[in-house]
Amino acid sequence: MKAFLLLTLTGLVALDTVSGQAPVSGAPIYVPQNNFPWKNKFPTPLSVPEIKPEWIKLVDNSTVPQAPVNVKGPDGSLLVPPPGSNDTYCHWSFYQCLKPTDIASCPKGDWAPTYDDGPSPFSAKLYDYLKENNIKATFFVIGGQVIQYPDLLKRLYNEGHEIGVHTWSHQLLTSQTNEQIIAELKWTELAVKQVIGVSPKLMRPPYGDIDDRVRDIVKQLGFIPVIWNHDTFDWKLASAATDAATIETSVKEWAANATSATVGGISLEHDISEAGVEIAIKALPVLKSAYNLKLVSECGHMSHSDIYKEQTSQLPTSSSRVSPNAGPSSDAMDSLMFMRTGMMLATIALLVMLFL
Ligand SMILES: [Zn+2]
Repeated sequence: MKAFLLLTLTGLVALDTVSGQAPVSGAPIYVPQNNFPWKNKFPTPLSVPEIKPEWIKLVDNSTVPQAPVNVKGPDGSLLVPPPGSNDTYCHWSFYQCLKPTDIASCPKGDWAPTYDDGPSPFSAKLYDYLKENNIKATFFVIGGQVIQYPDLLKRLYNEGHEIGVHTWSHQLLTSQTNEQIIAELKWTELAVKQVIGVSPKLMRPPYGDIDDRVRDIVKQLGFIPVIWNHDTFDWKLASAATDAATIETSVKEWAANATSATVGGISLEHDISEAGVEIAIKALPVLKSAYNLKLVSECGHMSHSDIYKEQTSQLPTSSSRVSPNAGPSSDAMDSLMFMRTGMMLATIALLVMLFL
């Protein structure tokens, strides 16, 4: 009985130390390399976060276009505008409207693969492939995932990939109030900075749901929106609404069109499932045979020293193997110093007790 209780308890402790939540079904075992004491100061992963009072003044609402806050239907998607409606606020989801400030494609001959919604326990396999093949890519991460898998984000950064924010709880941003949009972006930015020490400038709206109201808030917060012009629809794999063969056919067509296409591509994929990562790995050599693989920032003609809000040096390019090592953020360093000092004081106290 005792042995049974011990085993049960050990199992529970092991589960808790894996990720702080029940593991994803079928996920590879993921063991964080570090314990991050700061985790509790962030909102619950994927919950709609509250805005911090000091963030409210970051956006001047008087200049934000007064586009209506879009309404969601019972299935959670946006209500489609009636036929004949005007696209007054340059909405991408319904009208594919882009503004010059949006990055949505690469120059002809170039291709930027992008991966959204991670990091996840499945991401490491994709990172391994990218490392083995010296390919740098762009990842749009979810804040709640970052605080669950900080080691993976740190690895991503250290191995020279580019990181953008993809909100905290993956809402349709045009359905959110100005303050909710600020909270979604700022909490994610803060989580990323906590782990890698820098704040991304690139952001991707979930579902590409952006209009001029969202754009203006994004701009005032110092972000640059990134959409895509090629969708693998890998997110439909989970419901069997697409399959690997269909996606492979699309990718081969994109590669075959390289010489006739007027612009290059930014593709949308996800590193949150085993099937998605498998497809991503199969797609890369096909795309690489037809295009120069690039980072999104390169397609957006951004300088490499300009993809994070803080000044950085030695940032990677898609063809270099430079690995910036930001080290732990200042808060993480503070915690470490605090723990070290505490342990030192405890040791001294023990020695004094022993010798007195
Ligand atoms: Zn997404």
